[in-house]
Parts: sequence; C-alpha cells; structure tokens
Amino acid sequence: YFITFEGGEGAGKTSILQTISTRLIQEGYNVIITREPGGIEIAEKIRQIILDPDHTAMDGRTEALLYAAARRQHLVEKVIPALNEGKIVLCDRFIDSSLAYQGYARGLGVEEVFQINEFAIEGCMPDMTLFFDIEPEEGLKRIAANKDREQNRLDLEQIDFHNKVHEAYKQLLNRFPDRIYRIDASPQMEVVAASAYNKVISFMDE
Ligand code: C5P
Ligand code: MG
Repeated sequence: YFITFEGGEGAGKTSILQTISTRLIQEGYNVIITREPGGIEIAEKIRQIILDPDHTAMDGRTEALLYAAARRQHLVEKVIPALNEGKIVLCDRFIDSSLAYQGYARGLGVEEVFQINEFAIEGCMPDMTLFFDIEPEEGLKRIAANKDREQNRLDLEQIDFHNKVHEAYKQLLNRFPDRIYRIDASPQMEVVAASAYNKVISFMDE
C-alpha cells in the first residue's frame, strides 16, 4: 500500500508518521517511511533548491516543476521498488501538496498542476491519503513553539497563504472522497496518531 500524509503546516504529519510506522512494524508489517520533497539524494538536493530562504526569486511554475521532478525521481527510485517488494510506503506529502500549495494557494491552477504531475507520476496515485486537518493559525502556533524545526522559505508566507492551502485540502477531500480521509488534527498528538493508525488498519483490512 502507498499511503500519503497531507495537511498544512504544524498539523503533526511528520511525528505521527513516525509513530504509526513504529506501531505497524511492531505488529509485523513491512513498512518504509519517506518524505517529499526528498526521500532520496537527488530529490533532497531539489528540496534544498526549492526551500532555500535566499531563493526569493523562485518563480511559481519553476517551483511546481521542481516539485514534480523531485516527485518523479523519488517514485521511480524508492517508492515503486518498495511497493513491488510488497512494502507499505508511508510518505510525508505527495501530489495533493502540489495541488494545494502550487495549484491553489499560489494560483497556478489545480488542473494545470495536476497535468504536470500526471506526466511525472504516470498513474501512480496513493491508495490512501490521510488529510490532517488543523486550523492554520493553530498549526502555525505549534511550529512557532517547536524550536528544533528547520526554517524554510515558506515560513515567510502570510496567514492568508496558509488559509488558502487549508481551503484547497478541503476541496480535495470532496473531490477524492474514495482516496482521502480526514483526520481531526486539533487534539493532542497521541489522540491524532491513534485515529490515524486505526484508519490505516481498517483500510488495509477491507
Ligand atoms: O512537509 P514539510 O514541512 O517538510 O514541507 C516543507 C515545506 O515545503 C513546507 O513549508 C511546505 O509548505 C512546503 N511545500 C510546498 N509545496 C509542496 C510541498 C511542500 O510549498 N508541494
Ligand atoms: Mg512535517
């Protein structure tokens, strides 16, 4: 199974992905965890280019193309081989991030960004996507409280931008009701992790 974790900043995706992975491995599942943009050397390098706080001149379409390029390389080199070995792949962000951030919030158009991503992924959509739903203001507060987190170019964005991202995810939830599941990310981490874990297990048992 290819399972992706989505949502705005400070929703808890990264930590919850770790927790779920640990629990699944304890239960005997064969799991790998990875992230986007990144997950492999070439894509981590592309990530550095995209997220460099000095790259304020980054054009929106350039950005979208770089995300799609990183996505493709990561899929081909890491995700698809793992799926072929029967592993469960838990991925921190995937195509829906591009649809929400570049397509909707940056105004490039969800359909346009979907098209370049179709070229990049060749039909390899996630089996299941968890959308960690948090009010943007709440998420940003969590990030501000977390001193260990790496700073990036997106940290300079205003609240309006994050509200647009949030709106976009809600629209994606309606558009892909068979694939995307909403997880209320406002309670404390353990509670959110438990509900996400249960969703994953019940999906795989179907
Ligand atoms: O998930 P993570 O916090 O590591 O993402 C790094 C940054 O990249 C975030 O600020 C996120 O908003 C941004 N991003 C983006 N468009 C994507 C994926 C990530 O703007 N398609
Ligand atoms: Mg994260």
